[in-house]
Order: sequence, then C-alpha cells, then structure tokens
Amino acid sequence: MKRFKSVMFLLLTTTLLCFGQFKLPALQFKYNALEPTIDSTTMYIHYNFHHAAYVNNLNKALEKYPELYKKDIVELIQNINELPAGIQTAVRNNGGGYYNHSFFWSILAPAGTAPMSPKLEKILVENFGSIDAFKAEFEKAAVGQFGSGWAWVIKEKTGKLRIISTPNQDNSLMQKAEVKGKPVLTIDVWEHAYYLKYQNKRIAYVKAFWNVVNWTEVEKLIGS
Ligand code: MN
Repeated sequence: MKRFKSVMFLLLTTTLLCFGQFKLPALQFKYNALEPTIDSTTMYIHYNFHHAAYVNNLNKALEKYPELYKKDIVELIQNINELPAGIQTAVRNNGGGYYNHSFFWSILAPAGTAPMSPKLEKILVENFGSIDAFKAEFEKAAVGQFGSGWAWVIKEKTGKLRIISTPNQDNSLMQKAEVKGKPVLTIDVWEHAYYLKYQNKRIAYVKAFWNVVNWTEVEKLIGS
C-alpha cells in the first residue's frame, strides 16, 4: 500500500510537471502569522481565493498556447505586447495578479522576524532623505492610488530607488508601464487586502503594514 501510494504520488507530480501550468506558490508563513496586522481570515481568503483565481485564470488564458506555460512569469509579463492579441489583456490582468501577489507574500514576514538592517537603513536614507520621509512617500502613494492597485518601491536601471503606484494588477515590469524598474517592495491596496479588518480605513492598513515587512528580503532584492 505504501509503495502504491508513492508510485501514485510520483505519477501525479510528474503529470503536473509535464503540464507545467502556473501554480499557486506555497506561502512561507501560516495564515495567522501576520496577526494582528493582517488577520488570518483576510490572509486565507486573499491567498486561496483571490490569488488562486489569478493563477487559474492565467492558466485558462494560455490554454490555446500551452508552450507559454514554460515561460517564467516575469518573462511573460515583460513581453505582453508580443503575445497573441486575444490574450494580452487576460495576461496583463491575471499574469499581473499572479506575479504581484506572489511577490507581495515574499516581502511579508511575522512582526519582528526580519528587521531593517543598518545597511538597508543607510540605502533608504540615501534615496529618500530619511526613513520617515521614505515611509511618508510610500504611504502617500498607497493611499493616493485611486481605486484598486498597488504601491511599490522599485529599483530603476540607474540603481536609484523610486516609489510609484500602479492601477489594477499592473506593475513596473510591464512594457506599458509608465515607470519601469524592478520591484523591491509592494503593498496591495485592493479593498480585498484590508476591508475585513480595516474597512474603509486604507491609511490604517498602510501604516500597520510596516510591522510585517520582510526587510531582509527587501535588502536582498535591492542588492541583486
Ligand atoms: Mn490582492
């Protein structure tokens, strides 16, 4: 029985790998790990329903072009204009949603587990004047994004850090992005990201967000 189970497991994983569709990445923390900043119900719904829907819809959009399943998600969203016209919007929205959420989870960590190092502090001060000024500019971008979207810290080609916001599921990797650069920090400001706990108070959510930033990961991204 044990043997049968392991053979079945092997078959299943091989089949999944052959299809090579995009998959919901494993969360690196438990649903309740970011409490009280992000409550576990919001985390559960956000990951299992919202993020999962983007992954499923991206896979559906690519059904007619299975060779695209082999592409890296960044490569895919960086080259939307080269895709068949009929799937460009679906990839922009769902590929964007897939990438943005995967990235968002990667820069979150339970409070106090990944603090800002003196080295990162120095980089942020060099770019924004002070940590307070940095946070204020990011909060302004997050609160000022009209409707649904994201605020970002991106690293431009010159190496300079810059704060921007994008609507819907757009990001700074996309060809049509007004400002291009590599994401190093983000916050999801769609209402589904905060409404259960913070209701209409987006600013309270944005201010609390600082408690659960994975600064170790942010520093790694800036350095790479
Ligand atoms: Mn979201």
